[in-house]
Amino acid sequence: MLIPILFIYGACCGSLLVALASRYARGTSYFFPRSHCDTCQTPLAYWQLVPVASYLLVRGKCQTCTASIPPITLIFEVSTGLLATTIATPFSLRVVLWLGLWTFAALCDAQCQTFPGWVSWLALGIVLIHQPLAAWVIGGSLFALIRWLWPRWSKPTIGDGDLDMLLSYTLLWGLSATAHWLLLACGLALSRAHRGERLAFLPYLVVSAVAWWLWP
Ligand SMILES: [Zn+2]
Repeated sequence: MLIPILFIYGACCGSLLVALASRYARGTSYFFPRSHCDTCQTPLAYWQLVPVASYLLVRGKCQTCTASIPPITLIFEVSTGLLATTIATPFSLRVVLWLGLWTFAALCDAQCQTFPGWVSWLALGIVLIHQPLAAWVIGGSLFALIRWLWPRWSKPTIGDGDLDMLLSYTLLWGLSATAHWLLLACGLALSRAHRGERLAFLPYLVVSAVAWWLWP
């Protein structure tokens, strides 16, 4: 009984993350106006706010202007629903919250190649809970180094957000798991990369992190 409830909560959070990231990318308020179609601005009916089911009921189209709702919305709602079903201990709750934060960052990054800086701070804080003092010192120092170094790097080949997640992941899972995670993320990114085109890498890092977490 608990699993379906967790899935519903997770799917609701996924739906919220997609909406918040879309508002961040457009530079509009997170809270106003109420949920609406991005094309015709018609407010959504209450039943159209039900994650997964509403997408299937309207067959991925706005009921007023028939504009397509990106399938990524459905994919995220299902993925975050599945992620929530893995919550069983305080540690798994922390991991799912951490993945949720980075999922939000990845959604923002995919749309506007940046994301709110507080995500990195909060994600690092979640990772450092219950860690020994040495992890706090090393993690804090490396995080400060990224913040100091990145603006001084004239042509960065990787975003500071990618480095933040790399640090966060290593502190959480260790070097060996980080190597596996990076390998999958790079493989996914290479399959979609086009010559000379700037690529938002964070979505691939997050897909890889979610895949490694769900895999067992
Ligand atoms: Zn519409």
